[in-house]
Formats: sequence, structure tokens, C-alpha cells
Amino acid sequence: MIGSGGREHMLVKTLNKSPRVTDVFVAPGNAGISLDATCVDIEETDFDQLIDFAKRESIAWTIVGPEVPLTKGIVNAFRAEGLNIFGPTKEAAVIEGSKDFTKALMEKYNVPTAAYQTFTDARLAIDYIKEQGAPIVVKADGLAAGKGVVVAMTEEEAIDAVEDMLLNHSFGDSGARVVIEAFLDGKEFSLFAFVEGVNVYPMIPARDHKRAFDNDEGPNTGGMGAYSPLVDLSPAHVDFAINHVLQPVAKAMVKEGRPYTGLLYAGLIETKEGINVIEFNARFGDPETQVVLPLLENDLIDVIESVSQGRDPQLTFKDAFAIGTVVAAKGYPGKYETGVVLPELPEDPDCYVVHAGTKQTKDGFVSAGGRVLLVGAVKPTQQEAQTAVYRYLECFDRTDDFFYRKDIGFKS
Ligand code: ATP
Repeated sequence: MIGSGGREHMLVKTLNKSPRVTDVFVAPGNAGISLDATCVDIEETDFDQLIDFAKRESIAWTIVGPEVPLTKGIVNAFRAEGLNIFGPTKEAAVIEGSKDFTKALMEKYNVPTAAYQTFTDARLAIDYIKEQGAPIVVKADGLAAGKGVVVAMTEEEAIDAVEDMLLNHSFGDSGARVVIEAFLDGKEFSLFAFVEGVNVYPMIPARDHKRAFDNDEGPNTGGMGAYSPLVDLSPAHVDFAINHVLQPVAKAMVKEGRPYTGLLYAGLIETKEGINVIEFNARFGDPETQVVLPLLENDLIDVIESVSQGRDPQLTFKDAFAIGTVVAAKGYPGKYETGVVLPELPEDPDCYVVHAGTKQTKDGFVSAGGRVLLVGAVKPTQQEAQTAVYRYLECFDRTDDFFYRKDIGFKS
């Protein structure tokens, strides 16, 4: 496993359930992951060392968590050495790595998404904003660790974002081109699918909570919690997303000479006019993975092998509800402290704890990132899952150093 966050910890926990998996190594991992696997001190983009390690330890499968190694070509590098790796090639990971590429692909293949234009010239971009009016959305073309999107409620905000990206180069090369698109109003959800060429095997929808505070207030974050499945999303909308988004995009990638292999993440929105695409990611989403994988009944390694060999993995999911709530350091996503000692994390048969940013010290676990961990539960009803998670989280109420949203899943 390549990566070091909550998503990777959940993937490790899922792999450990497989009777076929003997050892899991994670590069570089985190303190929580080291409870469930062997962490190896290799950077996620140090392909030479990762390949040496995979050969030396006879690794059967390498699974890639984050987007940066994918867009840099880790899959190409491993395959060139004859090593099994689950993820898209550099050519296919461009579906996440360039928003301009993906918008053009969707336009060409009639996949529903917001109207847009791409600019490298700030003056032309500003003219376009004035012509279209606000609200409007400005996006850096390349990877920006989730920070390259400005949903502007006024023309001024949009113009500031353009100047920031194109003139002040605040996102470096990632912001050398900007995509400006129409604002979509609706309810967002995520749908993952295992993909091999034209074959698409969807999982179940999940919903992330991106804003820092309750009632979707405060700044955008990497995600403060998630739940799955979604009772308020109609099966017809899910079918539409499979038939009119995931399948045509997989076919389009083959046609474009960039066949996709791996996990494809569709970020979707249900508007009054129907389902639209917000974005694609070339990997499992965080924190949705932390609630979707606990519902998967199949052996994950069987799934990866079947999909890679062009066979239907026959995915099945528990008839249950999962919710997961993130505990973050006070101040996140702005400035926050690290090295703060966490309360004791008791074993609880009703809950699971997934670490994102923690370190082990002689005083126990300490925080090492903005998002520290996620507490999740799987129960027959969403209400029972919520009760279990929020009961567990009371152990964080005795300190002012951390916070978590109190309303994960409550809207549905
Ligand atoms: P991620 O961290 O999810 O990969 P990203 O930086 O790739 O994010 P997007 O997912 O494209 O960016 O956008 C981030 C968020 O901004 C979305 O989840 C959504 O809430 C909002 N957003 C993006 N595009 C639009 C749009 N056209 N209309 C309304 N909101 C939007």
C-alpha cells in the first residue's frame, strides 16, 4: 500500500480481512496503520526504492492510495518491471490531474457537466467572468491538494481567484491554466467504480461533508465525515450516473488511447436538472472510503484480481449503514498545532478507528496533521450507526484541542 492517510488505513484494515493476505506493508504509513501493518520508510514518489522493495519482498499486489504518485506514473514504472499494481497509468490518471482534459473529454462524449471555458490569459478570463456573472467557479487545472477550487459568490471573488492563479502563480504550474465553470446548485455525492478498460463495476454511493463546521458552514476541508448508502438518492439517479457518466467515460478513455484501470471516483451533484459531474478522481476518495469499504462483502484482493483479469467481481454490499466522523485539530483547515496528546482510544465492539494524522510517542498517540482520525460504525440503521459514533467521540469532549462535526449524516 502506498500512502499515509485514513483512506490507506481503511484499505489496510480491509485487506487484513482477506484469508489470502499474509502480510501488508505500507509506504510510508502512519502510527495507526502500524498497528495493522508494517510501515516502511519510503516516500510515496520514490519509485526506485518502492520497486526495489516490492521485488525484494515478493509483493503480490501494490495498491496506490494518493493521486500524486499516480499522475507521476507509478503504475507505468511498476508495470515496466513486471510488477502487479492496482491503479491507472499516468496517461489515464490525467482524468484527475488536468481539469481541462476532463472537461474537454466530457464535452466530446456528451457527459453532463457544467458549461466551462479554459484560460491561460487573465484578461480574457476576467472578461468571461464579467460576461457570465456570479456565482461562478474558478479551478486551477492541475493538482492542488483540494485547495485549487474557488466557488465564487461574487464577480470580485472570482476575479481575485483568477489573478491569484494566473498572475501571482500561487499554485505554480497547477494554476497556469484555469477552468471557469458554471455554478451548480444541488446535493453532492460520490460514486466509486472498479474499472478495467470498458468494464465498470460500481460500488455504492457515499456522501462527504466538506465544510469544517456543522450545517455546512465554515471553510472547505479535505472532508469532515461521510456516510453510505444514501437514502435520499433515488436508484434511478444512481443508474443514470452508471449509464451516462461512468460507462461512457470508461469507453471514452479507451477511445482516447488512455484505457483506465483502477478505482475511478466520480464526484457528482444532483441538481434540479438531473445528475452532473463535478470532478473525477483517479483513486479512492477520503473519507468516503472509510464508510464504503466496511460495507463491501467481497474479499478486496479477489475484487482487484478479478477486475484486473477482465472478470466481473460480483460486488455485494451489506444491508447496513456506515457513518464516519473525522476528528480534526483545532484551527484546521487553517493553522493548527501538532504533537497534542490524544485521549485514550478504547476498543469498542461497535466502532472502528481509522488514523489519518497521528504519531506514536511515549505518552501515547499525538496529533501529526489537521485531520487526525475518523471514528466509524456500521449498523442496521443510520441512527444506530450515528449513536455509536457520537457516543465514542465523547472521549474528545474533555479537551479543547480537537473538534468534530456533530451532524454527519443527519441531513438525510
Ligand atoms: P477534491 O479535494 O475533492 O479532489 P478538487 O480540488 O479536485 O477537490 P472539485 O471537486 O472540482 O475540486 O471541487 C471542490 C468542491 O467545490 C466540490 O466538492 C464542490 O463542493 C465545489 N464545486 C466544484 N465545482 C462546482 C460547481 N460547478 N458548482 C458548485 N460547486 C462546485
